[in-house]
Amino acid sequence: MRACKREFVVHFPVRMDDGRVRMYTGYRVQHNVARGPAKGGIRYHPAVDLDEVRALAIWMTWKCALVNIPFGGAKGGVAVDPRELSQGELERLTRRFATEIAILIGPEADIPAPDMGTDGQVMAWVMDTISMQRGYSIPGVVTGKPVPIGGTLGRAEATGRGIAVVTQAALEQSRQDIKGATVAIQGCGNVGYNAALAFQTLGAKVVALSDRSGGIYQPDGLDLEAVSDCKGETDRCVDYARAEVITNPDLLELPVDILIPAAIEGQITALNADKIRAKLVIEGANGPTTLEADAILQERGIIVVPDILANSGGVVVSYFEWVQDFSRYFWDLAEVNRNMERVLRHTFAEVMVAAQRERVSLRTAGLMVAVKRVVEAMELRGIYP
Ligand code: NAD
Repeated sequence: MRACKREFVVHFPVRMDDGRVRMYTGYRVQHNVARGPAKGGIRYHPAVDLDEVRALAIWMTWKCALVNIPFGGAKGGVAVDPRELSQGELERLTRRFATEIAILIGPEADIPAPDMGTDGQVMAWVMDTISMQRGYSIPGVVTGKPVPIGGTLGRAEATGRGIAVVTQAALEQSRQDIKGATVAIQGCGNVGYNAALAFQTLGAKVVALSDRSGGIYQPDGLDLEAVSDCKGETDRCVDYARAEVITNPDLLELPVDILIPAAIEGQITALNADKIRAKLVIEGANGPTTLEADAILQERGIIVVPDILANSGGVVVSYFEWVQDFSRYFWDLAEVNRNMERVLRHTFAEVMVAAQRERVSLRTAGLMVAVKRVVEAMELRGIYP
């Protein structure tokens, strides 16, 4: 399991709006498919390379196994800054990349989804490209697509909502109430902002948020709608006038009950882990805590709910989308949310039991449960030929 099963690298041309042709490099890596079709997002970012895609594919194997959905792990990406492309260029790049990886992807084989730099529109182009090539509509080839073409209700908010559900489960362990708890969230994108809304709904107080521009802090609670309006105008948190402006590192060290790093990797490190004041850290982003920091937090008695558990609401609802596409029968939002909550609460309880039994952190316990499931599937299937 140290190596990925399939690693596919493609170099392909895209015609730019000015008539020139530019070459791009893309990747699709399937780490393990013992438990089912490969599942994982497509990332558009200039720093995408084979090693990053491999790591993200491995993460997906564990995440899908941990929440016990019948998928293996995959990831894909193109080394490109999508913000530098016109809409037409982005569409041509996406359709050509989808064609390059068409021999790998399909509802029974490998199912992409959005990741950093891609969204529902990009998934719609992938779905249409594969459908046009095969001659009929294949909605189940991707998840995270818009609702009118076979997407599911609740997918866009799923990761953020899932974070709030997992946090609630963690607080119940120590008989604490989420009502009135203070929350600081790094990142104000799909995950961070939707988590903030979900916390507000549950009665918690979101006191700090941030983005690339910096952070904002209001001890008596932020007005999330007003922050969103401000983001809509300038796309910068720090332009919100009614809160104190802070830095991203300041946000991580605020005196709050719950800290949610939901932006990028490597934010809690050996340099700041001893200054974290939250009692509970819920990893919204993938890999926000370094190994050294993880050990420091554990020693200080701060509970860390690991990424493969905390942010798995997204892939769980992607699974529901794939199931709905196959059955051609679509659920209402309440059913999507109820089923997601059931899966996440069950998984949290399993990880808690494993952590207590093995006397390890929630991260190690989560990995133990996940790896064991993958090993079991590999052993049952055996080696062919
Ligand atoms: P996004 O692009 O919607 O939002 C990212 C946010 O982080 C933005 O507010 C951005 O301004 C901020 N940010 C970027 N660089 C930053 C920096 N250097 N310092 C502080 N803030 C910075 O992305 P997202 O979908 O919300 O994903 C966030 C994280 O969650 C990523 O690690 C992603 O892999 C992970 N994740 C996302 C999903 C999902 O369903 N979207 C699921 C699981 C995990």
